[in-house]
Amino acid sequence: MAEVFPWQEGLWQQLAGRTQHAHAYLLHGAAGIGKRALAERLMARLLCQRPQGLDACGHCKSCLLLQAGSHPDNYVLEPEEADKAIKVDQVRELVGFVVQTAQLGGRKVVLIEPVESMNINASNALLKSLEEPSGDTVLLLVSHQPSRLLPTIKSRCVQQACPLPSEAMSLQWLSQALPECSQEERVELLTLAAGSPLAAVSLQAQGVRDQRALVVEGVKKLLKQQQSPTQLAESWSAIPLLLLFDWFCDWSSLILRYQLTQDEDGLGLQDMRKVVQYLAQKSGQANVLNIQDWILAQRQKVLSKANLNRVLLLEALLVQWAALPTQR
Ligand SMILES: [Zn+2]
Repeated sequence: MAEVFPWQEGLWQQLAGRTQHAHAYLLHGAAGIGKRALAERLMARLLCQRPQGLDACGHCKSCLLLQAGSHPDNYVLEPEEADKAIKVDQVRELVGFVVQTAQLGGRKVVLIEPVESMNINASNALLKSLEEPSGDTVLLLVSHQPSRLLPTIKSRCVQQACPLPSEAMSLQWLSQALPECSQEERVELLTLAAGSPLAAVSLQAQGVRDQRALVVEGVKKLLKQQQSPTQLAESWSAIPLLLLFDWFCDWSSLILRYQLTQDEDGLGLQDMRKVVQYLAQKSGQANVLNIQDWILAQRQKVLSKANLNRVLLLEALLVQWAALPTQR
């Protein structure tokens, strides 16, 4: 059965306790807070033939088929390859499933994640299933970025925001999920994951703390003119582009905040505090705003999986970054 996260308890009781279910739910919230697990738990509950309280029983025919991955009335739609789009052909296949009769005589449940990975054609193909729901089918749409969805998709779902846990709750959970880390490291990981505890765990698994150290060291060398933008862009080839843009975006915000507030508590993680403070003192605010706008625009392109020349893009970023303290 899907893991139950303590910060979802209230939401779970509200969702699973409904006497009547909607045809479609949109579960949305930050990535890495357990939305998928919540959707899977709800899927099991909706398919179970003998629910126990709010949860699936775990041993009826439906539960056993679901656990074996061979339930005939359950459909999971996701990109064929990680981080790629859900294709219109995949959605057409799903639409065929939705119009069939349930083979076990109960509900059919569809899970789609992430919904924003459908392009406009795929979204339009899905709309038909949302507009004319067939029989007792429930669609569970999971989205990390609901702002990217078609309004017509959103308006046909019961929208359910999924909460980000408090820092204290996340750290308590992480102390069990990452026993090998110190508390300080867990705080750092959670900060890098923007407060999402599951994202913190996957960042740890992908070695993000080493990557971060490499990038921070590189930025310092860049500002001291000990390394060129080209050298750095090439040496960061193993680091996800989105992560890099997230960090630079974060640093530009911290610089602006310090320029406005002079508050040393707001300088972010220890590793970049001195650099952030230095850049805040040496750079013109308009230039920081410009580079932040540029970073946000590029980050959006990275998110939309545009075909980007990675090295050129990073070089462009680093050339602008290196010029910050000289432009007042
Ligand atoms: Zn069951």
